[in-house]
Amino acid sequence: MAPTHTTQKLIRHFQRTHGIPLNLRKPRFWANRFNAYYDVATRQLMLPRQARGAELREFTFHEIGHALIHQYVVPVRFISRFVSESPGLSRNKALDLMGDDVPAPPGWVSWYAMINGTEDFCEVLGAYAANGYRSQGEWRFNGFSFNVSEDRLLQKKIAWVEEILQECHLQAA
Ligand SMILES: [Zn+2]
Repeated sequence: MAPTHTTQKLIRHFQRTHGIPLNLRKPRFWANRFNAYYDVATRQLMLPRQARGAELREFTFHEIGHALIHQYVVPVRFISRFVSESPGLSRNKALDLMGDDVPAPPGWVSWYAMINGTEDFCEVLGAYAANGYRSQGEWRFNGFSFNVSEDRLLQKKIAWVEEILQECHLQAA
């Protein structure tokens, strides 16, 4: 399936599942290998052309997280919980660690999530959505498998993500 089609299906599914309409242009795909982002000016998800399967799903849901925070007024107290947990790793350091093929410590779905609270929120949302919104059992994310059931910090973060989704849904209604 063409990546544009897959991504648009994921966006539609996300909107329907949570009752959160997103004001987005058609996603754009570009040659930059790992660099995905949400373009605030054009309201577009920018995704790497080569991404497929799990990788494409994970990128798409992560960037939907940024689009959500941009479009809706998420109260500071909801995001600041992630901020207070984040060790504030530099982006370069986080990307180095990602390349080492070592899983992030418990409570974190990736090293990238440690950069700041917003990235942590987007990564947890990405992992949660990419695993069918299951908050128990085994997750796969970013090439690693881990059991979320016994991870207390991750359980808290999933609950925070759900509160943010609920808040956006209420604003949309
Ligand atoms: Zn991000």
